[in-house]
Amino acid sequence: MIVGGYSLHLYCSRTNPEHGFDEFPHQFTGETGQKCRAKARICGWKLDMRSLTAVCPKCARKAAKRAAQAKEGAE
Ligand SMILES: [Zn+2]
Repeated sequence: MIVGGYSLHLYCSRTNPEHGFDEFPHQFTGETGQKCRAKARICGWKLDMRSLTAVCPKCARKAAKRAAQAKEGAE
């Protein structure tokens, strides 16, 4: 079956032992690339279209936690 639209297959850019062996890609579909990316962001993906990197929800949460801890340590 062929459907019109756009599909986004995301693989995390980070190396993380918490990644499952068959965890990726995560697939998002929509009418446009923009809509796909919006769905991925709602699910917690961090997408950087300039450097074309994608960070999965697990790594994004880890990075946010580290940033928060670094901030606490600096204060
Ligand atoms: Zn990841």
